[in-house]
Amino acid sequence: MLQSNIFGKRKWYVLALIAGLLLFQTACATASKQPVAQQEPASAVAHEEKHWGYTGDVGPAYWYTLDPAYAIAKDGKAQSPINIVTGDLVANDALQKPVLHYHETRFEVENNGHTIECLPIHDDENYITIDAQQYILQQFHFHAPSEHQIDGVYADMEVHLVHKDAQGNLAVVGILIRGGQENVLLRELFTKLPKEVTSEETLVHLEGLIDLSGLFTGNDETMYRYDGSLTTPPCSEGVKWSVAVQPIELSAAQITAFKTLYTGNNRPVQNLHDRRVFLARE
Ligand SMILES: [Zn+2]
Repeated sequence: MLQSNIFGKRKWYVLALIAGLLLFQTACATASKQPVAQQEPASAVAHEEKHWGYTGDVGPAYWYTLDPAYAIAKDGKAQSPINIVTGDLVANDALQKPVLHYHETRFEVENNGHTIECLPIHDDENYITIDAQQYILQQFHFHAPSEHQIDGVYADMEVHLVHKDAQGNLAVVGILIRGGQENVLLRELFTKLPKEVTSEETLVHLEGLIDLSGLFTGNDETMYRYDGSLTTPPCSEGVKWSVAVQPIELSAAQITAFKTLYTGNNRPVQNLHDRRVFLARE
């Protein structure tokens, strides 16, 4: 009797531990590949992500209150996203747009409770070169509506391709998305968006390969570049932002498929302070 009692207690302990781990994993999924945890000093790596969202008292205006580690969301002078004012752009011949090295790649798809995120199965096949530094693709994910504004106007959605260099520095490429033709490259993805928050076991594996350079077809113009931050907690700065000048299109059905899961997962635009936005050359 005593034996089974002890076993019973142990079992509950184990179950509670598993439940706790699952909760932690779900709540913290954004941080998994999103950058920052790895960027912080070792002492902060185990820092548990606080629950945050896009509305109410865990919304963007309150992120800085949720954790001292998020203070920069309020105090930072180089926060993202921003309104890109095309009349104020600074042409800079010394500043190149990122050189893209994307290949046909297999992705798995996660619903992390904040967005839909696609992770390359093999981590090092896709990279960009920016300012002579190589940044490897970590994941790409979506916001609706867009996070960046162009001349004060939001697009229907925005995709962020998040890259990291060997030192843990981040470079994100953003592309605005508007309604139009079906995006064939993302067809399978948008028919298989995981409706519930996923776990390791319920990640969706796409069968087809995606070559992300296809997202830039017809986008031969230069890119906007500026220094910014993560647009989700902890909103760490030091992120090199490149935003494509040309938006891409998704069909109304594809946009609806995403917005059914996430609408309003965009942080409001932040003060530019003394930053400038550059038009980078080819
Ligand atoms: Zn994003």
